Amino acid sequence: MLSFGLEKEVGAWDSVLLEPLTEDNFINNLQQRFKRDHIYTYIGNVLVSINPYKKLALYSTDLVETYVKRGPFQLPPHIYAVAASAYRWLNDRNEDQFIIVTGESGAGKTEAARIVLQFLVLVSGGSSEVRLTKDRLVQANTLLEAFGNARTMRNDNASRFGKFLDIEFDFKGDPVGGYLTHCTCNKFLLCGSDIHLLKSLKLQRNVEHYSILQIEGKQTTQSDEEDRKLFIYTKSALNILGFSDEKVVDIFRIIAVILKLGNLQFVPCNNIDGTDGCVICNEYELFEICELLGAEHRWLQRALTTRLIENGIIADLNACEATKLRDVLCRTLYSRTFSWLINKINDLLKVRCAKRKNLGVLDIYGFELFDTNRFEQFMINYCNEKLHHFVISATLKDEQEEILREGLEWTRVEYFNNVVICQLLENESHGILTLLDEPNVLNDSAYLIRVEQCCAGHSHCLTSDSSLPLDSFQIRHFAGTVTYKVRDFVEKNTDYLPKEVSRALYRCDHPLMAYLFPEGNPKRCNIKRPLSKSAQLRVSLNSLFKGLSSRQIHYIRCMKPNELKLPRKFEMGLIQHQVRYLNLLTTVQVWRGGYCYKLSYPQFLSRYKMISTSTWPRWRGTAIEGVSILVRSLPIPSAEFTYGRTKLFVRSPRTVFELEDFRRG
Ligand code: ATP
Ligand code: MG
Repeated sequence: MLSFGLEKEVGAWDSVLLEPLTEDNFINNLQQRFKRDHIYTYIGNVLVSINPYKKLALYSTDLVETYVKRGPFQLPPHIYAVAASAYRWLNDRNEDQFIIVTGESGAGKTEAARIVLQFLVLVSGGSSEVRLTKDRLVQANTLLEAFGNARTMRNDNASRFGKFLDIEFDFKGDPVGGYLTHCTCNKFLLCGSDIHLLKSLKLQRNVEHYSILQIEGKQTTQSDEEDRKLFIYTKSALNILGFSDEKVVDIFRIIAVILKLGNLQFVPCNNIDGTDGCVICNEYELFEICELLGAEHRWLQRALTTRLIENGIIADLNACEATKLRDVLCRTLYSRTFSWLINKINDLLKVRCAKRKNLGVLDIYGFELFDTNRFEQFMINYCNEKLHHFVISATLKDEQEEILREGLEWTRVEYFNNVVICQLLENESHGILTLLDEPNVLNDSAYLIRVEQCCAGHSHCLTSDSSLPLDSFQIRHFAGTVTYKVRDFVEKNTDYLPKEVSRALYRCDHPLMAYLFPEGNPKRCNIKRPLSKSAQLRVSLNSLFKGLSSRQIHYIRCMKPNELKLPRKFEMGLIQHQVRYLNLLTTVQVWRGGYCYKLSYPQFLSRYKMISTSTWPRWRGTAIEGVSILVRSLPIPSAEFTYGRTKLFVRSPRTVFELEDFRRG
C-alpha cells in the first residue's frame, strides 16, 4: 500500500490552495477526491474526512511507518498525519495535545478515533509494560464501544455516550496509562452472545424479543454474525482488562436483567377499596430476573408495583406508573453499571510511574435528527452545540481576535457564532435545559409552559405554534432544526428511583448490586440525591472543555456523504449543508490568511537559539531583535514568519517541523 503515499494528487490536498475559493470549488474538490476514494482533504491543519461506507486499503502498519518517516505534510491527507503531528508536538514540544473529532451521527467519528488510537499504539515503544498498557487502552476502547453504542436509524453503531480518552505518555513518548471521561445517554444493545451464555442468562437470541432493543420505525442492518463477533471481542476485552470470568458473567447477568426488565408488562387491576393497581402479566420474566439477581421475588415485585407513601402506608402503582418506574430502573441499572465499568478501567489504567504529557481524543455522539426526537436527542444535540462552540471559538474567534490584538493586518472573516443557542439552552435562570431543574417543574406540561414563558419569540426557538405537533417545542440548532416531543423529559431528567427499589436491589445476592445501589443500604439514610441528568451533563461538559482549552488542538471534521449509508454516493445537498454549518469555507478563509503557530519572542528565542551558529550565547539585545536575526539566518522563506506585538507567527506547520528538525541537528 505504499503506493498510496506516492500517488499523484487528485484535486487539491489542501483546500487552502483552491483558486478561486468558492463553495462550489470547495465541494467539487471534495467530490472529485471522494470519487477516487481519497476521503481525506486538508484545510490547513484541519482534516476533513468523508465516510466512504466501505472498507478502504488506507490503514496499515506500512503506511503508519511512511507517515512517521516522511513527516505529516509531505504525503496525502490522512488521519495518520493528524495523529503523527499530535504525537510529534507531544514529544518535541512537550505540550499536551487534544484531537477533536466532530461530525453528525454516522459521519465516522468513532472510526476516526479508533484509527488515531491504532496509530499511537503502532508508533510508540515496546517494552513489556508499555505493550500491556497499549493492549489495555485498545481493549478499553473496544469494550466501551460494545457497551456504549447502539443501533439507530442513522447509524448501526451509534455512540450513546461521549468519550474522552486521555492517554498519558512518559518522557520517551510511550503510553504509560490513561483516563477515560464519559457522559452517557440511556440506550444499550444486546451483544450477540453465544447460545450457552444466553441460555444461562435466560435470554433469547432474537433481538425482536426485547422491546428496549427495538428502533422506532426501522429495521437495522447489522448481521447476527457481526453481533457474534462483537460479543467474542467484548468478552475477551473484559478478560484482558482484568475482569475474571466470574465478573464477566456478573456483568452479562446485569445486561440480561435490563433486557428482561424492559419486557415486563403491567396490566391494570382494581383493588377492593376502589383504587387502581396493577399486576405483572408475564410473571415468568420476573422470576428469571430474580434468579439472575439473587433477589427475593416478593420484594422486587412489591418494589415495582407499589409505593411507600409515609408512615409505612403502601399504595399501589397503576399500570402506567409501574411501566415508568420499570424504565427508570432499566436506565439507572444500565448507566450505573457503565460508570462502574469505566471506574474499574480507570483504576487499571492509572499511571504508576512518572508521566510527562497527555494526548486526548474526544469522540462524542453526533448531532441527531429523527422523525420523533426525545430527551436523549435533546441531550446529544446540546452536547454537539457546546462542542461546535468550542471548535469555532478556537478556530475562528480566538484566532482572529489574537491576530488583531497583535496588530497584524487582517480582514475579519464573518461566521455564525452559536453562542446564542448555547445560552438559549443553558442560561442560568431560564435556559431550556436549566428549566428542567426548576422546583415547580414536576411534569412535562409544566415544563412546556415554562419553556413557552421563557423562550417565546427567541430567534432559535419555536413554541406553541400551530405548525408544531402537540406537546413539542422546536430548536434551530447550528446543524438543523429539531422538534422535540416533551413526553418523559422531566422523568428522564430526574430518573428518580424510589427507595424501596434501591432497597430491594441492595439486598440481592448479585455481588454488584450493593455497590451500584448504596442508597438502598438501610444503615445509610443520608445519601445525597444525585444531580439531574441535564445538570450532570452541563457540569461535566463545562469542566471538560475548560481543562482542554490550553492544549494544542487538532481537528478531524467528519462528514456524511448520504443518508442511506451507501458507498460511492456523494449527495451534493447533504454535503453542502454540512459544509455550511461546520463553517468549513470560513475555516479555509481564516487559514488562507492565518498562521498555524505562534510563540512569544522570549519563548521562541529560548527554544531555538541553539540553531544559530553565530549570534549566541553573546546576544544581549531585545528578544524581538534576537528573533529577527535568528530567523533571517535560517534557510526558510521570510514570508513564513510575521512579527506581531508580542509574538512571532508561523504560517505553515511544515515550517514548525523544520525548525524542530534544525533543533535536533
Ligand atoms: P455517532 O455519532 O452516531 O456515534 P459516528 O460519527 O461515530 O456516529 P461511526 O460509527 O464512526 O460514526 O461510523 C458509522 C459507520 O460508517 C461505521 O460503522 C462504518 O461502517 C462506516 N465508516 C466510518 N468511517 C469509515 C472509514 N474510514 N472507512 C470505512 N467505513 C467507515
Ligand atoms: Mg460514534
